[in-house]
Amino acid sequence: MTILRTALELKERVGGWHDQHIRIGLIPTMGFLHQGHLSLVDHIRTHCDKIIVSIFVNPKQFAPNEDLARYPRDFQRDEGLLAERGVDAIFYPTIDIMYPDGYCTYVEVEELGKVLCGQSRPDHFRGVTTVVAKLFNLTKCDIAAFGQKDYQQSHIISKMVKDLNIDLKLLICPIVREADGLAMSSRNIYLNPEERKNALYLHRAIRKARTLFENGVRDAQQLSQEMHREIGQTSGIKIDYLEIVDAETLQPVGIIDKKVVATGAIFVGKTRLIDNEILNP
Ligand code: AMP
Repeated sequence: MTILRTALELKERVGGWHDQHIRIGLIPTMGFLHQGHLSLVDHIRTHCDKIIVSIFVNPKQFAPNEDLARYPRDFQRDEGLLAERGVDAIFYPTIDIMYPDGYCTYVEVEELGKVLCGQSRPDHFRGVTTVVAKLFNLTKCDIAAFGQKDYQQSHIISKMVKDLNIDLKLLICPIVREADGLAMSSRNIYLNPEERKNALYLHRAIRKARTLFENGVRDAQQLSQEMHREIGQTSGIKIDYLEIVDAETLQPVGIIDKKVVATGAIFVGKTRLIDNEILNP
């Protein structure tokens, strides 16, 4: 497994692969890897010949009041996990490599980036799409894998790929959870034991919506109210949003007659957690 730190190193490596018609798979991450990230490696493997995982904590997707400085990092551990999993290369650039002095170009998918997480994180998705577009160009990948854990993110990236005629395939992979249902996330490390227990409320609320949906409830407002009721006034939790939205437009729906997403974000202490489930009638 090679570690590539500059755009030139990456270009030389993927250029050679491209010339030999080797299919390149990319998994963009911010590192501090867990089984969720590693599952993407397993999913992409059958679709490509070489796997590149990028590790870059992208400052452009963090607001000034967010956790950029304390975001967990452990490159040596990540390197070990990826080598064990049979990854071919890690792209591990610095901020200066990705955004040299004078950098001023951004990719923005309008509308879809303004709802749900975009309400409380207004510039977040513009940061995500910008860095992902750059990674697509740099790696010349044929396929890229993302997790359904970040449903809105993967949906926005699909739209960017379509709108900008980017010639690659996207693979959206299922959410990997802890045994008790908590969606795996690098940010779970922030949770103290009390918060770790409270973190479960998010998935519980979403499961509640799923159960009611499976029992025939099609009124989205009712499901949303039940999700809110499940969390109620639990001390230490602040709800950012809990919604049932159209899986394509990400807009609220009335009666569920097509694919929707039960999705939510909560603050447990200072830690912001997200989760979702797709409900398909
Ligand atoms: P991150 O490092 O948080 O930016 O995540 C990198 C990629 O891993 C994104 O496509 C995420 O959606 C995906 N991912 C993160 N957590 C999980 C999980 N629990 N299950 C599946 N994919 C995940």
